[in-house]
Amino acid sequence: MQSIDQLRSSVRGELIAPTDTGYDAARKVYNGMIDKRPRLIVRCVDAADVIAAVRYGRDTATLTAIRGGGHNGAGLGTCDDGLVIDLSRMKGVHVDPAARTVRVAGGCVWGDVDHATHAYGLATPSGFISTTGVAGLTLGGGIGYLTRRYGLTIDNLLSVDMVLADGRSVTADNKQNSDLFWAVRGGGGNFGVVTSFEFRLHPVSTVQFGPTFWPPEQAADVLKAYRKFIVDAPEEINGFFAFLVVPPAPMFPPHLHMKTVCAIVWCSTGTAEQTDKATRSMRSIGTPLLDAVGPAPFPVVQSTFDGLFVPGMQWYWRADNFTELSDEAIARHVEHGSKLPTMLSTMHLYPVNGAAQKVGKNETAYSFREALFAEVIVGVDPDPANAKKITEWCKNYYDALHPYSAGGAYVNFMMDEGQERVQASFRDNYSRLAAIKKKYDPSNFFCVNQNIRPAA
Ligand SMILES: Cc1cc2nc3c(=O)[nH]c(=O)nc-3n(C[C@H](O)[C@H](O)[C@H](O)COP(=O)(O)OP(=O)(O)OC[C@H]3O[C@@H](n4cnc5c(N)ncnc54)[C@H](O)[C@@H]3O)c2cc1C
Repeated sequence: MQSIDQLRSSVRGELIAPTDTGYDAARKVYNGMIDKRPRLIVRCVDAADVIAAVRYGRDTATLTAIRGGGHNGAGLGTCDDGLVIDLSRMKGVHVDPAARTVRVAGGCVWGDVDHATHAYGLATPSGFISTTGVAGLTLGGGIGYLTRRYGLTIDNLLSVDMVLADGRSVTADNKQNSDLFWAVRGGGGNFGVVTSFEFRLHPVSTVQFGPTFWPPEQAADVLKAYRKFIVDAPEEINGFFAFLVVPPAPMFPPHLHMKTVCAIVWCSTGTAEQTDKATRSMRSIGTPLLDAVGPAPFPVVQSTFDGLFVPGMQWYWRADNFTELSDEAIARHVEHGSKLPTMLSTMHLYPVNGAAQKVGKNETAYSFREALFAEVIVGVDPDPANAKKITEWCKNYYDALHPYSAGGAYVNFMMDEGQERVQASFRDNYSRLAAIKKKYDPSNFFCVNQNIRPAA
């Protein structure tokens, strides 16, 4: 059996154990509610380090977690009394502007990618914040500002390099290991450690961005208009619906500070004129409190919420998919969305139609292609004393809406909710995923994730 000293001699990165200075900082993940104490953290700097760490974990039968950006709500980038293969030092983004592709190292966050691609006037679909890990977001699907125009992040994934449970390093794409490539597009970190991703890029540079706010009393009218609007809107228009508390930031008029509102946060890849024309009917519903859409560079848009949602706060998540939004569901939203328990708690309804629906439900592991919205309810607060309050609000809101949902959720928005929920999210793709898991990871070595169990 390999010793820690043997592992130390074969990696160039850092090994951090509980007795080392810096252990407490190294074990922290984004969600302050997660307080896990791994036995060892290996901060890899390259694929060779990852291979060594995987071999060590397997040879010593140690519970092993993979950490990309560390953002996972359920804390699936770490574990108690086990090994954490931490890729956060594996940076590097290479843009090929002629081929319109980008190669991204497994430890990058989206801000790293946006910075590099924006210089060429290009972007690939990611999320709504720049500090999230490329790895975890991509492997679960990837829902963001460009979803309606260019699809989910996985719809733009061209290939991955991965280290498998037996320590082999392989490339998976449409030609090589295509079963694995199918599985990693939505199946999460179940199949190996991805050390590098290759994405397709699109011409995205300056977008039309900003919110329309309404008083919460107008939320039912806004949602009734929005459920139809977002089906018919051109694909360059993205706008997610939210209940939120207006933060006391200089970009918002002081009289709105700390007021609960309902909002649509717009991001359009069309021109200012096209955007205005396409969104005017929606933006003139009721009496908006603020309507502030204007041009912004895409990386600025992606990082707008970074300063608000800083690492280390308490987060409790719940999520569902919706194929429709009935009047009854809207009534429940108004009831619970108007009672946000803290300034940072929020509910977002992300549209997942447009280009994302052009891919069939069995073409990638991500199953809910017919869904219109991915809903996420998050209780957020810096103060651990409010953990119970935000959790209860979140669960109550979820319980009220779940009966109207399509069942299952976007796995990246789920907490640790058990096998039934994982299977409900993959539906009839689950058995194919389980067979691929059996082929590539028969002992379920990679089990700290929304776990797909190897087929019997
Ligand atoms: C503030 C915030 C905003 C978010 N916004 C969005 C959004 O706009 N759109 C969206 O789709 N999601 C969003 N998410 C959810 C996000 O996609 C998930 O939390 C995701 O798991 C984060 O990935 P990570 O690499 O940062 O996380 P980690 O905690 O590091 O890892 C998450 C999971 O991915 C696996 N994993 C990580 N790295 C690798 C790797 N290299 N190889 C194999 N498996 C790996 C881990 O095993 C773990 O199971 C957001 C989350 C937060 C906290």
